[in-house]
Amino acid sequence: MAEIRTEHYKSEARKAIKDRTLQGALADVQDRLGKGTAKAYRELPEGPGLRLKAHEIRMQAVENLDILLETLAENVRENGGKVIFAEDAAAAVTECLEIARRHEVRTVVKGKSMVTEEIGLNEALTAAGMEVTETDLGEYIIQLAGESPSHIIAPAIHKTRQQVGRLFAEKLGIPYTEDPPTLTQAARKALREKFLAADMGISGCNLACAETGHITTVSNEGNIRMATTLPRVHVAFMGMERVVARLEDHDILFRLLARGAAAQHMAGYISYIGGPRQPGHADGPDAFYLIIIDNGRSRILADEDFREMLCCIRCAACLNVCPVYGKIGGHSYGYPYSGPVGAVVTPLLVGIDRAKHLFMGETLCGACKDACPVDIDIPRMLLALRARLVEGDRRWNTPPGNLVEKSAYTAWSLAIRNRSLYDGLRWLSAQAQQLMTARDGMIHRLPFPFSGWTRSRDMKPLARKTFMQHWKEMQKE
Ligand code: SF4
Repeated sequence: MAEIRTEHYKSEARKAIKDRTLQGALADVQDRLGKGTAKAYRELPEGPGLRLKAHEIRMQAVENLDILLETLAENVRENGGKVIFAEDAAAAVTECLEIARRHEVRTVVKGKSMVTEEIGLNEALTAAGMEVTETDLGEYIIQLAGESPSHIIAPAIHKTRQQVGRLFAEKLGIPYTEDPPTLTQAARKALREKFLAADMGISGCNLACAETGHITTVSNEGNIRMATTLPRVHVAFMGMERVVARLEDHDILFRLLARGAAAQHMAGYISYIGGPRQPGHADGPDAFYLIIIDNGRSRILADEDFREMLCCIRCAACLNVCPVYGKIGGHSYGYPYSGPVGAVVTPLLVGIDRAKHLFMGETLCGACKDACPVDIDIPRMLLALRARLVEGDRRWNTPPGNLVEKSAYTAWSLAIRNRSLYDGLRWLSAQAQQLMTARDGMIHRLPFPFSGWTRSRDMKPLARKTFMQHWKEMQKE
């Protein structure tokens, strides 16, 4: 399983905000990938309303997962593949190690896959003595750098070309250059050799199709196609929610996926993989395995408040518009999933209490919902997570939260429902704040427990007269 560092959210976020290079990179990725999304949806022949249709397709699939997974497994087996259901990360890794042992695998090439990041597959394969090479350019860069991805579809977004130039010079032994085409050519040359020598190819699965028994992979580099056809064994990993009923559903979802991810009309390569090579096929592996992973998803499915999150197709559109991600970057989230999707999925996978900073840190601005190609209501779930944290929930092993905070909100709720009490408190606060107001008319420091509010900003004092008082005076005049 991936290392969980969600507790360090605040300190990592502070570091990220001070990192000027990172700030430039984040602004750039949001500018390049995030800005065109709404326009791309508007330009769809069916209009942006297609997102609602996509939501319906995904929701139907989530509500019928048991039948769809059974049908998918049956059809993959009929196509000659093998299907394994893994309850958790450890089981999925063990199954993959066993397959590798059976096929005497020594070298592995991988396509980008978030679920394999989630289960910590690379570390396990490497510990078992295998050489594992990531083949997506961004993943390859961060693998060489010994880092983790900072964005779902652009994993090395935090790196400048100068940093990549130095890294390639050191690790690939080429002369230093910061020219992107030359760097890409160097990676391409190094990776070609890995593809040709690999015993096993590993991929994720963007979406599987139950009725045909195919998995699909989407990329812009063509690397996954090589990783899944050249080696003699292909192992595909998928989260158990990544299935839809019909092939025609893919058309809608992939058109939206490309628009959400990068405002593209269509991704460069979409591959349908239906099993091992059949007689007469020009290429393909001798053996094909599909490992379907639960790892906490059944618990999400069982909770009506959060089931909708399983509709996610991991396009990263929500990261590209999120004001919080745009400042703190992916590493602050302390788990492979970052941004708004990470702020909901990670607590549900690793523990609501353990990852509470992630959903408490979001602004609830709603940009993620507007950008999501499957119209997932992330702000609603962020609020639902906050409610669980305060109320506690045994199903999620979450004890009731901070009693002081809860009492404060109960008192606030009481006050705003009682006019005289509210007016009295307002008057008292207006008097008390006079002692704190500086000459420039602002409050620079509030006392505890409100001090956090003024740690990084000033506060304007309450007006001496309320709007209602002004209104009454104006009417008299
Ligand atoms: S929540 Fe929506 S926008 Fe975010 S990654 Fe998932 S599908 Fe994409």
